[in-house]
Amino acid sequence: MLDASQYYFNKAADVLNLGDRIREILITPRRVVKVEVVTEDDAGELIHYRGFRTQHNNSRGPYKGGLRYHPSMDEDHASALAALMTWKTAIVGVPFGGAKGGIDCDPHTLSKTELNRVTRTFVERVKEIIGPTLDIPAPDVNTNAEVMGWIMDEYSRDYGFSPGVVTGKPVDLFGSLGRDEATGRGVMYALREALKDQGKGFADVTVAIQGFGNVGSHAASLIAEQGGKIVAVADRLGAVENKEGLDVPALVDWAAEHGTVNGFSGGAPFNGPDVITWPADVLIPAALEDAITEENAPDVRASLIVEGANGPTTPKADEILLDRGVVTVPDILANAGGVTVSYFEWAQNIQQFRWELDRVNGELEKMMVRAYAAVREVANEKSVDLRTAAFVLGIRRVGRAALARQPVRETIIFD
Ligand code: NAD
Repeated sequence: MLDASQYYFNKAADVLNLGDRIREILITPRRVVKVEVVTEDDAGELIHYRGFRTQHNNSRGPYKGGLRYHPSMDEDHASALAALMTWKTAIVGVPFGGAKGGIDCDPHTLSKTELNRVTRTFVERVKEIIGPTLDIPAPDVNTNAEVMGWIMDEYSRDYGFSPGVVTGKPVDLFGSLGRDEATGRGVMYALREALKDQGKGFADVTVAIQGFGNVGSHAASLIAEQGGKIVAVADRLGAVENKEGLDVPALVDWAAEHGTVNGFSGGAPFNGPDVITWPADVLIPAALEDAITEENAPDVRASLIVEGANGPTTPKADEILLDRGVVTVPDILANAGGVTVSYFEWAQNIQQFRWELDRVNGELEKMMVRAYAAVREVANEKSVDLRTAAFVLGIRRVGRAALARQPVRETIIFD
């Protein structure tokens, strides 16, 4: 994962003609923190996990990025995902840097009270390095509004009322209207803009989605509302397909009740990993990283991929897809809707003011459309693919901000 994010960074750095020293400075995280999370399970036995927080770059504002609870979480994951956040916040133009972290636990094996204790212990360990103007976590895989509410509560015990320390909170606890579906909504806008480039609309395409959690389920709902046909969905426990288009609201209800799309009667089951090569016009990976690899990339049948997940495509797969003419809207653009509405939430918390849902969605749409257009412009200007263009734009904006903070003697140009 770390290799992939560095590969894409270097490809863009080549386009920008950046020297080795500047690359090293831009790619190296400013701070990597690893903590021991020791607490008790419900039976009173000791349990312990490792927690991580990588703060990659804060040239453009406080560090910002999600917290992931997953057994695969480690320092490399945190650092790779933190760097992606740095470029993403720059591309979408929110005043933040990039960070990421999490705990190497499997929350499916923990009770709610255990999860609460694990979360509070983690906050206790990292509280000195997070804060409303320092580093603002948000939800990611296996974390949600409830967990964010606990983080705010634990932090506020030491530092006083601090809703701005974390975003993606429950709406009843100073969260923003529209934050829950923001990433999926942003994916929908990114798809709309990419389809426009091809002279198409939602009604012209079928869509396959991997992952039916926060990002995948909201993207599915919103795309279906716009007239797109969702023909296949897979999650970690099962998969369901329907050539005529799945009844997405019914599937959302089913998944909410059963914790999986598996068993949904409005379609036929299939082997989950096959979703990547499903016969659909559009593929939306919205689960974990490394879903599209050199093994399955030659068989991808979609002509357009919109990356809801972070890092779903390995570099080798990316080269294969580029050779085959498959267009990819990269993660650092396509899933930027989440951090955009996180920015709105943070701004509302600081102003102690609540925005109406229409305003949240309207501003999100404007920022996603603007970000897509800016990336498209760089792609045209430099004759590169959308992923390389997105990295070029992100690196350029971060680089220029970093230079503007310092009286640098040598001339470094980010153009
Ligand atoms: P989530 O925990 O809500 O959902 C993850 C989904 O992926 C679940 O449906 C799970 O069953 C599925 N999944 C896991 N392993 C799978 C496998 N091997 N095959 C098929 N499905 C699998 O997580 P989320 O918040 O929706 O995040 C998904 C991705 O989107 C991650 O890469 C995350 O970093 C990225 N992302 C999330 C946000 C956000 O706001 N939540 C923002 C930007 C990017």
